[in-house]
Amino acid sequence: MRTSEIRSRWLDYFAANDHEIRPSVSLVSPEPSILFTVAGMVPFIPYILGTEKAPWPRVASVQKCIRTNDIDNVGRTTRHGTFFQMNGNFSFGDYFKEGAIDYAWDLLTGSREEGKYGLDGDRLWMTIWEEDQVSLDHWTRVIGVPAERVQRLPFAEISWSTGQPGPAGACCEIHYDRGPAYGPDGGPIADAAGDRFLEIWNLVFDEFIRGEGEGHDFELIGKLEQTAVDTGLGLERLAFIMQDKPNMYEIDEVFPVIAAAEAMSGKTYGLGAAGPEAGDAYLDDVRLRVVADHVRSALMLIGDGVRPGNDGRGYVLRRLIRRAVRSMRLLGVGEATLPTLLTASKDAMKASYPELETGWATISEVAYAEEDAFRRTLAAGTTILDTAVTAAKEAAAVEARGARPVVPGKAAFELHDTYGFPIDLTLEMAAEQGVDVDEATFRTLMEEQKERARADARAKKAGHTDVRVFQDIEKQMGGGSEFLGYTESAADATVT
Ligand code: ATP
Ligand code: MG
Ligand code: MG
Ligand code: MG
Repeated sequence: MRTSEIRSRWLDYFAANDHEIRPSVSLVSPEPSILFTVAGMVPFIPYILGTEKAPWPRVASVQKCIRTNDIDNVGRTTRHGTFFQMNGNFSFGDYFKEGAIDYAWDLLTGSREEGKYGLDGDRLWMTIWEEDQVSLDHWTRVIGVPAERVQRLPFAEISWSTGQPGPAGACCEIHYDRGPAYGPDGGPIADAAGDRFLEIWNLVFDEFIRGEGEGHDFELIGKLEQTAVDTGLGLERLAFIMQDKPNMYEIDEVFPVIAAAEAMSGKTYGLGAAGPEAGDAYLDDVRLRVVADHVRSALMLIGDGVRPGNDGRGYVLRRLIRRAVRSMRLLGVGEATLPTLLTASKDAMKASYPELETGWATISEVAYAEEDAFRRTLAAGTTILDTAVTAAKEAAAVEARGARPVVPGKAAFELHDTYGFPIDLTLEMAAEQGVDVDEATFRTLMEEQKERARADARAKKAGHTDVRVFQDIEKQMGGGSEFLGYTESAADATVT
């Protein structure tokens, strides 16, 4: 089943069950405290907090999301995209736990002939709050799921709140067992990596009022006058299960970019399926998945009006494009890549987002210009690096005969900070000329810069996702007004 159909079945199902269907809002978050829309609930925050009366008691949507905090997971886990779509159904004072569980079970396991998803119910596992007797009874007695497949967790591990006094509640997460080929038995709690027991749907039940406190250290001080249900199902995750693929990068909406990148680079995707022990073949697979993810995120961001820049959203977009281009370079492709890759992504996404086709002239122009600018940056950085390499060689010759020349960490940092020249590129190109780089000093300088950015970040949570996480990362990625330079991550070191 194509992803676009999984999507439309969602909307049809909830429309038939009296939900108001709301269109996706922009990736540019309507909630001013966060840069991007990170979850389906973002446009409904006032109704969940009760600060505004909801115009509809029940709502459903398929929301475009960006989560920059998952960037280092991309291509390495099976299930994290920087862009993804969150299917959601919401109740503002209408149905509660039983109703939400009934819909989830019916839609996931009901027959495909009736417009549902037809998953095998025996593969579904739940995690719930250990004191949530209503959910436990409903899953085990009414739905009939064996008790061992409903795993119970302390509140701190399965709760949601805004991070401040106000609404709070416990979640019920639904996980899909991909089978013994992906890990041992034991259910989602034992499977910390989530490789075998894939989290697909999170149901949040808002019913309490919480008091002051940091992190999970707070008391529940009362009950909400109006409860709310806020759910999120990962469309790509359901798609990779239903399309019988090993991960979300191989579904119909993402894989065509991998195929296009294979054709451009002459690489064959999948040779690293054994994982990190497959070495370079694995790294190539990761790069191809990173390319497919980042190109799609860039496409969707530009489509929503974001433009490359040196701070905030524009910086995130710039970084995604650069990482994609850089990954292609590491796959051996030096020429412009987006004319091929972005087109492939647009063609894969346009069934669900026809506006990509109508806005294509602008979208492609913005993207291609940014790739060209980066390619010029690479060329300029190369000149600077060559100068630094020559200086290093001369210094080494003066110091001691035969000593290996070293480019100072400060020079590498400046290349990175001022020219956007990634460290691994500096390392690679210096090595080609027989020169080392003082990487330790470079890392120290990067850490100092990150610390400055972190010290700035304000803490705030909203939604069943911890929005604070996104704010921190966005700040690190240049979310503030001040340009803090390029941040380094584990993935940068090996992939981009
Ligand atoms: P995970 O634990 O796998 O990182 P999560 O608990 O952070 O997921 P939620 O905040 O509960 O995710 O979001 C609701 C649903 O959205 C998840 O159950 C999942 O199906 C989907 N989802 C979350 N993050 C991503 C992502 N980066 N890429 C694709 N789907 C995602
Ligand atoms: Mg997550
Ligand atoms: Mg989770
Ligand atoms: Mg979750």
